[in-house]
Amino acid sequence: MNRAGMRLHRPERIKPLISPPAAASVLGAGRSGIAAAHLLLNRDYRVYLSDSRDDDMVRKDCQAVIELGAQVNLGGHDPARLADSDFIVISPGIDDRMELLQRIEIKDIPVFSEVELAYWFSPLPTVAVTGTNGKTTTASLIGGILQAAGIRCQVAGNIGRPFCLAVKELKDEIVLVIEISSFQLHTVKSFHPQIGILLNLSPDHLERYGSVDEYYSAKFRLFENMNENDLAILNADDPEIELRAQGTVKCPVVWFGSKNSDKSLAFVKDEAVWLQLEKGDAVRVVGFNEIKLRGYHNLENILAAACAATACGAPVEAITQGVKSFTGLPHRLETVADAEGVTWVNDSKATTVESVLRALQSFSGPLVLIMGGRHKGASFKPLETELRLKARRLIALGEAAEIIARELGSSCRVELVPGLEQAVARAREAAQAGDTVLLSPGCSSFDMFTDYEHRGEVFKNIVLRMSGYGPH
Ligand code: ADP
Repeated sequence: MNRAGMRLHRPERIKPLISPPAAASVLGAGRSGIAAAHLLLNRDYRVYLSDSRDDDMVRKDCQAVIELGAQVNLGGHDPARLADSDFIVISPGIDDRMELLQRIEIKDIPVFSEVELAYWFSPLPTVAVTGTNGKTTTASLIGGILQAAGIRCQVAGNIGRPFCLAVKELKDEIVLVIEISSFQLHTVKSFHPQIGILLNLSPDHLERYGSVDEYYSAKFRLFENMNENDLAILNADDPEIELRAQGTVKCPVVWFGSKNSDKSLAFVKDEAVWLQLEKGDAVRVVGFNEIKLRGYHNLENILAAACAATACGAPVEAITQGVKSFTGLPHRLETVADAEGVTWVNDSKATTVESVLRALQSFSGPLVLIMGGRHKGASFKPLETELRLKARRLIALGEAAEIIARELGSSCRVELVPGLEQAVARAREAAQAGDTVLLSPGCSSFDMFTDYEHRGEVFKNIVLRMSGYGPH
């Protein structure tokens, strides 16, 4: 057996912590809240679902669960109903430390994330992916490789298809691959993946966490219930992960990364990705020239995915095929247009400073960078060196524009604009043939857009219209 071993055993315990017909309150009627309510109704719980929003869209989204018997409350949460429930399920967008949940009559009621709830009813082994950046890309890549290997799986989680929905609609899959955010990990209790991946750690979500330490510790909760039969897949190139893993991760570990390739199961060498499955010669998996994803950070994602796929029993040939055919996801370094010699790239999903840094490192320059949105608390200063080397101009918009200008104004020329339309127009004027214009905001989108997808779509439409490729 190779170092990753075969970890696709069924979890021992598949039993809800609180059994039906208990009363459940679900906070948040977004995609995951609705999926949680559906699963609970399907398993004979009594369900109260509430959301602070009250508009046509949320009403429409709630219709089906109302018909199935859920009590729905829009435009606010009713504390008396919450106080009457046996447990509360919260959506990832809801802070488990919110004032409502601290009230005297509510604070002793158990609060679970949608991930914990889904786990109660999942009969399948789980591959769980977390980290500050790269979760969606890596989870999708694992899905693609497993498919190439003929290992039936569903990819779910934060990715657009909630874990609860995947569990409710299982067919003949033999494994679930799920993407998990730190917020969902706060309120897990029995959740126990068989394979747990921690991709990287960098400061994020400081608007919700008291400190970086608190945020990093939340990520390590992934491994809390894992044991000697399970496998942690960790980034050997991330010093913070190496340090914190000692004493915290009790299950077997395999590493990926290149700085210490002796230790790693998957690493990069001679312009290719390699796997060291047994003692002796390593196996070459795929050459850089066959990979369609851009940037070193995506190589790290590929290394992690190769380790996970190996642990699920995928042969090297399937890993090669899966990686070669993966073209990347929208809104992550997505090329939108080549017009007048300028390449336009949409990286709207880059909401962290680290992901902007990785984006800048993926291009040799010169670049016109568009940043801004709602500030998530981290300093923009780590971008200084790359900007000094590569940025022709930085165009800043949104609530964070002035902070960006203040922190980065000495590294390159910064221009403030009121909106994305003006940002694209100014970028077009500033860019010269051979340049790249990169939207990589380093901020969340909620000050001006519904979400990062909305922001990315608006950007793409403006670019296509201005460059003459799209509708006028
Ligand atoms: P997540 O699901 O963790 O938000 P995504 O795969 O959606 O991650 O990518 C989000 C952003 O982070 C994109 O801008 C992407 O280019 C960047 N990114 C992807 N993988 C990594 C990584 N390993 N390290 C740093 N940035 C990354």
